[in-house]
Parts: sequence; C-alpha cells; structure tokens
Amino acid sequence: MSKPLRILVPVKRVVDFQIKPRVNKALTGIETSGVKFSINPFDDIAVEETVRIKEKHGSLVEHTQAVSIGHQKAQDVLRNCLAKGIDSVSLVDCKDMELEPLAVAKVLKNIVEKQNINLVIMGKQAIDDDFNNTGQMLAGLLKWPQATNAAKVEVLAEEGAVKVTREIDGGEETVRASLPLVITTDLRLNTPRYVGLPNLMKAKKKPIEKLTLEKDFADVDTTPRLEILSVQEPEPKEPGIKVDSVDELVQKLKDAKVL
Ligand code: AMP
Repeated sequence: MSKPLRILVPVKRVVDFQIKPRVNKALTGIETSGVKFSINPFDDIAVEETVRIKEKHGSLVEHTQAVSIGHQKAQDVLRNCLAKGIDSVSLVDCKDMELEPLAVAKVLKNIVEKQNINLVIMGKQAIDDDFNNTGQMLAGLLKWPQATNAAKVEVLAEEGAVKVTREIDGGEETVRASLPLVITTDLRLNTPRYVGLPNLMKAKKKPIEKLTLEKDFADVDTTPRLEILSVQEPEPKEPGIKVDSVDELVQKLKDAKVL
C-alpha cells in the first residue's frame, strides 16, 4: 500500500444496550438520569476491527485514533478504547449540547482533515436515537466513497484498497474501494474483545486530548437543522396466548381475520 493507514474511529457514549430506554417526562428524548451508559455497541465493533487491522498489518497502520463528541463523561469510553489498543483518543466537549448527525459529521470532517485520516471506521448507527445518518453524511461531506453495514473488512495492502462485504436484504454484497474511505460496521463484523484490568490500569496513565466545540471547532457550523417535536413510547403490546394444537392456532387466526 503506497500510503500508510491513518484510521479514525468515532465512538459515542450511549445508554447501555441492556437497559430498556424510557421517554423523559418532557417527551423530548430518553431519560438519562440514573441510567448506565456504555460505548455504542456498533462503535465497539469498529474499535475491535481497527485494532485487528493494526495487529494484522503492523507498520502499514501509522496511527489509530478514537474520538467522542459530547459529554465529559465519555472519557470512560475513550479509556476503554486505549485499553483495547487504540493509539490516541480525543474528547470534544459540547457541554450539555446534543449534536445532531450533520453537526457530528461536520466536526468529524474537520478532524479527518486536520489529522490526515484516510480511513474512518464507525458504527452504522447509534442505538440511542437510531439515526443511521452520520457515516453517510461524513462520506458525503468529504466526497469519499462509503461502504456501509460491513460484515467483513479486508485491507488489500498491495492495492491501497479495502474490500468490504456488506449485509443487504436477503444476502451479502462485496464492494472494493480505494482509500480514502468511510466504513460503517454491522453486528456480524466481529466480537469485541474483553478488556482486562491490567490493560485498563495502563490506559489510565495515557492522556486524553480534551477539545471543546466552542474553541477548537469555532469555524464549524453546528447549528441544529432538526427540531424534535416529541418522543413517544411505543404502543403497549397485547399479551400473547398459548395454544394446544395447530387446529386451535388456525381457528384463532381465522377468528382474528388474519387467515
Ligand atoms: P447515528 O448516525 O447517530 O446513528 O450514528 C452513527 C455513528 O456515528 C455512530 O455509531 C458513531 O460511530 C458515530 N457518532 C454519532 N454520534 C457521535 C458522537 N456524538 N461522537 C462520536 N461519534 C458519533
């Protein structure tokens, strides 16, 4: 590969996937007080893939960096990235402002350009607001190709390209793109490793670069374009019933006029 890889992994701190989200009283979003937060699961997969590429391709990978845009508390998530083998991490403090995908993509574009990044590996979606927008918007702003919903990533070192197998409805599609490239990860790409205590302790000694939206991204327009009007809980589901035979099932379906 003519150019060494400089990989950026954007990671978001979200309500833990094992917690059932509840809508807040103001109906403007999900309740966040007293709730466990973790790295967005798709981003954990992106971190794992990045570390695997580094382990497999050695000196071809010049640098790996994780960035989280949001709250100070995302430091824990970033420390975990360091413990897993990411070289450096940055936190963009937005105070209490929650940025929408376009604004996040603009901040990421700025980082990509400043850090000479040529490969972005990120989650296909953040499980808190399920936008599934940021990767596509970032690729659009950078005018880079994108390979979304990756189930397999193969770096073709000799060709300066990456082959990505994508999960699509009813099957898989394999695409190839030259660098630079944005990849978004799907669940089947890998199983993230467990971080042991010794690595976590070592990571505690490593620095976290602290940036602020206000000062370090003053020239990036993060004005919201979306207004959230309301957030609703889903309709409660009717409880299910058990039937003793296929005949009874067929009768019940006929009674419900679905057969
Ligand atoms: P979304 O478009 O919000 O569903 O998010 C898709 C992906 O964009 C996530 O999986 C992350 O990799 C990245 N992302 C979104 N928001 C942030 C954020 N605030 N900080 C870092 N990365 C983010």
